Amino acid sequence: MEETLFDRIIAGEIPADIVFENDHALAFRDINPQAPVHVLVVPRTRMRSIAEAPEQDPRELGCFVQAIAETAKALGLEEGGYRVVFNTGKDALQTVPYIHAHILGGRRLSWPPG
Ligand code: AMP
Repeated sequence: MEETLFDRIIAGEIPADIVFENDHALAFRDINPQAPVHVLVVPRTRMRSIAEAPEQDPRELGCFVQAIAETAKALGLEEGGYRVVFNTGKDALQTVPYIHAHILGGRRLSWPPG
């Protein structure tokens, strides 16, 4: 699997505005925010997208989901609510082939997304 931008952020080779991290995941602010709060959460275990989840260790996946919730809490989004998005593949406009959860919040979000 080719090295991606997010591999390099995890390795500390590219700077990022980190808002949460633990042994399982890293969360940092999106460079092109689409909401007042827009953070990306990546698991330290590498996979291209959520489509590869069936082949992963379910405990690691569970820790990743917990890290998403902990990040949202640390950002103060629990009360107002937030959206979690996994863009997957070309129709969803996934641009970085390393799984990442977008956390969007801080304003009323429209539905459905365009
Ligand atoms: P996606 O389109 O779902 O693959 O999302 C990739 C996201 O990565 C986009 O929202 C970009 O704005 C974001 N992004 C690209 N480069 C960086 C970077 N160096 N630091 C933080 N976010 C980035």
